[in-house]
Amino acid sequence: MPELPLFTQLSYLVAAALFVLSLKWLSAPPTARRGVIAGEIGMALAIIGTLLLPEIENYRWIAITLLVGTIVGIPLAYLMPMTHVPQRTALSHSFGGLAVGLVGTAKYYLWTMEEPARLTHFTTGVICFEVLLGFLTFTGSLMAFGKLQELLPTRPVVYRGQNLVNLSLLAIAVVIAIYLTIYPLSSWLFPALIALALLFGILLILPIGGADMPTVIALLNSYAGLSASAMGFVLENKLLIIAGALDGSSGFILSIIMCRAMNRSFTNVLFGAFGQAVVTQTNSEERTVRSASPEEAADILLSASRVAIIPGYGMAVAQAQHKVRELFDQLTRRGIEVKFGIHPVAGRMPGHMNVLLAEADIPYDRLLEMEEINAELPHTDVALIIGANDVVNPAARNDHSSPIYGMPIIDADKARTVMVIKRSMNPGFAGIENPLYHMDKTLMLFGDAKSFLGEIVKAVAVQKS
Ligand code: NAP
Repeated sequence: MPELPLFTQLSYLVAAALFVLSLKWLSAPPTARRGVIAGEIGMALAIIGTLLLPEIENYRWIAITLLVGTIVGIPLAYLMPMTHVPQRTALSHSFGGLAVGLVGTAKYYLWTMEEPARLTHFTTGVICFEVLLGFLTFTGSLMAFGKLQELLPTRPVVYRGQNLVNLSLLAIAVVIAIYLTIYPLSSWLFPALIALALLFGILLILPIGGADMPTVIALLNSYAGLSASAMGFVLENKLLIIAGALDGSSGFILSIIMCRAMNRSFTNVLFGAFGQAVVTQTNSEERTVRSASPEEAADILLSASRVAIIPGYGMAVAQAQHKVRELFDQLTRRGIEVKFGIHPVAGRMPGHMNVLLAEADIPYDRLLEMEEINAELPHTDVALIIGANDVVNPAARNDHSSPIYGMPIIDADKARTVMVIKRSMNPGFAGIENPLYHMDKTLMLFGDAKSFLGEIVKAVAVQKS
């Protein structure tokens, strides 16, 4: 690799250290903000260090691309609400994959025409790996974006022999990559590699259902990182190799954690067509549902000693976290113990609930992970579910035919009384009915989470402590 100017070497060194620290700090809510800032400074240093490389002769195109990226990126960050972060992440991965694929293709053809000696077996092999992963991440992430944004059907699209077709395509692409590695100047085969990668990305995501999408996004993140790392080898850029490897491995670890949280195996997620969005046909209208008013809910909460609040996607949509904080304050002031049960896939992105509750200044020590809150729920007077549905669905525990059977849930049904704030009897993300709502101990609090909680807070406040 070429000798870099001292400033670039130093900036790369500091940037690499900041990337590692950023990941470390991002893993805990109290240090997460610091982690974001460290990552941003690291990336700025990496860009500045690269811009100062002496081989850059003309900044015009770089300035134009930076401008275009900024024009697209800023609205993407500010206009998309927090609840759309998964699709925004998928879109970012697709841009990353496209960039990596295009750089690899450009380098391959440039070297074929101008410096064929640079296309060694090793470099060509790495370019093939980069292009394969880059382009499949591009179309795969676009498909994930389409499904999460509901532009495409969220249910799995399956057909007979699907796995065989997918694996055969992948095998052909790998054979082409091996052939190109052995005979680097067979440029007539290169477009076939690109086409197969693009097609494989689409077919890979087709059979994946909505509920498994978080895991797949983490996996695509990992692919984008690995392809960027390969690009680092092609461009002889050590920082890109490090950053890509960090991205690739952290994405991979995250997908393993999420697979565990949802009790899925990798093979199941990739090839099993799980998470099928089936609206079960049980006649919910015929089964009884008890509902209550904000005042009745306030009375029940005030007569409790221990309350568990279980937030979900609906709290995020309603932006009800500050009302949750007000209720938390009112109840704790009256000596009622309030804890929060956080399911690892509640909401629409990993850590979604933690971020919102931290924003509302709920003390971290009150946020319990699923296993911890489950140990406490049988001794809890009231489980107050705020806009959560799939993550408290007992069908995951009891109903073998349920698409979410086997997914660990928060055992809200084990509390003495269950209250659920949601607007209707509509299902959640997985599209399945929730038997919890029909239990004798359950009271439905129908309404928007923010306004219903506001009413409960008012009703609690007027009661003497
Ligand atoms: P959920 O199962 O999607 O249910 C959310 C509930 O919130 C809905 O039933 C909805 O019922 C209610 N709701 C919506 N807007 C509301 C409002 N303004 N006020 C009150 N309630 C409202 O959510 P969850 O229990 O959090 O489960 C998360 C699901 O998303 C899982 O299936 C998970 O696999 C999936 N997922 C997770 C991630 C991740 O990384 N965390 C990413 C993608 C997908 P109404 O319409 O009746 O109000």
